[in-house]
Order: sequence, then structure tokens, then C-alpha cells
Amino acid sequence: MSEKRALINVDYTCDFVAADGALTCGVPGQQIEQAIVEISKEFVEKGDYVVFAIDIHHEGDELHPETKLFPPHNLEGTEGRRLYRNLEALYQANERKDHVYWMDKTRYSAFAGTDLELRLRARGITEIHLVGVCTDICVLHTAVDAYNKGFKTVIHEKGVASFDAEGHEWALRHFKNTLGATVV
Ligand code: ZN
Repeated sequence: MSEKRALINVDYTCDFVAADGALTCGVPGQQIEQAIVEISKEFVEKGDYVVFAIDIHHEGDELHPETKLFPPHNLEGTEGRRLYRNLEALYQANERKDHVYWMDKTRYSAFAGTDLELRLRARGITEIHLVGVCTDICVLHTAVDAYNKGFKTVIHEKGVASFDAEGHEWALRHFKNTLGATVV
């Protein structure tokens, strides 16, 4: 019996990817555009559940732990928070579909403080696929939570990137060797 699957598309926004993004992972992020669009398209067309799990912040939020760590990024209502280039186009073409879901998140993990787990369980989804940025921050924290909650996890190597090449490689090993995820 095949697993019911979902794609979690993490933080592929202009602020995290574009050359002039507020907290960009730069060229490595830009280089995965085609792969992330193709993978997303495949899931959308097959009718699998596709979640855009996107960081949201508010200017000068003193209670948020990231305020001390990073410059302001992905602020609500700004251009920087739009998906990057062709992924934005793909989202716009499909956003009205029932199986395409935009989900604001406020922490690294797509599971932290969101209804993601409830939505996956309600649909009988047991296997999550991950693409997006950064491999060693938001993708990693999402994968750790998925592991703890018992979801099978698949990471698409061509669809993840980081500003930190060493962190990226370390995270790929961690997905496989420690979280028991499949890296394809
Ligand atoms: Zn953030």
C-alpha cells in the first residue's frame, strides 16, 4: 500500500532567495528554482496536498527570538515575503485549489505553532516531502519535528539549499543517518 503524501514547501521567498533579499541564502537558493518549481508542479498536478509553509514576522517584534538573531525579514505584507519568481507564478495559478494551502509560520519548523499536523492527520497523510530553504535551518527543524511525530520524511536534495555549504551537507547527512529520512 502506498503512503499518502504531502509536499511541504518551506520559505522559498524573495527575502530568503533573491540577490537583494533581506536574509538571502544567495546563489545556492537561486539555483534550485527550476527543481523546486518542477517538484511542486508534480505534486499539485497529482492532487497531493501541497503546503506553502512561509515565515511571517512583524516589524520590531521584541518578543520574537529571531529579532536578536537576524535582520528583519519576511515582514507581513511586503514584497520580500512573496514566493520567488516561478514558484510565485505556480502558486498564483493554483492557490484556489483545495489541496494547495498557504500557511503562515512564525518559527523555523512548519509544525511549531501551526495546525499543520492536524491538517496532515485529517487527510491520512503519513509521508511528507520537503523542499525549500534553508536546508540546515527551517527544513531541518521541520524534519526533526516530522521525525518526532512519526511521519515518514523524504528530502529532495535538488530542491533544498543553504547559504552555508557545510551546514547544507551536514543537514543532508543528518536527515539520512539520524532522522532515518530518505534523501532523493
Ligand atoms: Zn524568520
